[in-house]
Amino acid sequence: MDKFERITIRKMVTPSLYLQGKGAIYYLGQKAFTFGDKAYVVGGSTALEVAGDRIKKSLDSNGIEVVGWRDSVKDCTHATINRLAEEGKHTKAHFVVGVGGGRAIDTAKAVAWKMNAPAISVGTQCATNADASAESVVYTEDHRYLETLVLPRNPVVVIEDTEIIARAPVKFLIWGMGDALSTKFESEAFAKARDKKKDAEVPPTAALALADSCYRSLMEHGQKAVTDLKNGIHSHEVDEVIEAVKLSSAMAFENTGCALAHALHNGLTRTGQVRGEHGEIVAYATIVQAVFENRPRDDVRHLVSWCDRVGLPTRLKYFGEPSKSALRMAAEHAADKDANSKNMPDKMRPSEILEAIDKVERGAF
Ligand SMILES: [Zn+2]
Repeated sequence: MDKFERITIRKMVTPSLYLQGKGAIYYLGQKAFTFGDKAYVVGGSTALEVAGDRIKKSLDSNGIEVVGWRDSVKDCTHATINRLAEEGKHTKAHFVVGVGGGRAIDTAKAVAWKMNAPAISVGTQCATNADASAESVVYTEDHRYLETLVLPRNPVVVIEDTEIIARAPVKFLIWGMGDALSTKFESEAFAKARDKKKDAEVPPTAALALADSCYRSLMEHGQKAVTDLKNGIHSHEVDEVIEAVKLSSAMAFENTGCALAHALHNGLTRTGQVRGEHGEIVAYATIVQAVFENRPRDDVRHLVSWCDRVGLPTRLKYFGEPSKSALRMAAEHAADKDANSKNMPDKMRPSEILEAIDKVERGAF
């Protein structure tokens, strides 16, 4: 090989099995049995109140013993992960079942890794795309972002029972869509950056296709899914959105990378003047990224009007009007201090990000 030849590796990681549908939770035991007959269940309290009986029933009817049951996971901290992993080792469990939203599932995945056991995810709401990924976001004891652990493998089984997810408050689905919305923009920026810098793995085309399919699905089905859920209707559109968030966005972001939208989200939350859920802030920051990139005007307008229709924030006033100096701080963080900023194709200047924010605020795009 020529010593100047560029070596490009395309890498894709995925869960071994993804199951989504009404009553999918009843397949848990049957699918988990391949990995042993001793389960350690780790979940949030609401999640296990809602899904706990069905989980026990499914495990029990497949001859799987529940050797550990932790139903009060609130935050994914190193202390919680270490404590639960120690406990899990004593139970001699063969696998860990994480049940709930992002924090409980992220905790369970990290616990499984420390136990050197497979993780199984059972999602109970749609605010997060954590269930299928091989990452755990760790927080400090006072709820601030600490780090993202990249785990050696994905959960082996991911179960999304849409009947349970559809009964969770609709705001969760809206937040999940807000987070998933960023995937197309960020993965495309990431691909351009890797191509330009020629310094690492390049994302597979398959991951970019998933990001695109996620975005199309949100645009096509998002509004009806929200309306239907508000009216208590579990429609085809609801299932499409759940798949876009839980599968397509998860596999796309994990096999590409975050970029300006998440860098700006992180910058905004660090100011202490921006109050909002992760998915809400990411949705707004995605609009900023689209404007920053000079995407076609019609595309940006379509994106903004979709956010308005589904109830995602399109102006800073939704978060409490941060001051000019706070915005500057956020832009400075997003431009080069945040790790995700390296995934943009060109070096960013804070003034350019501020300009994009200003355009979004004035509707001048
Ligand atoms: Zn996110």
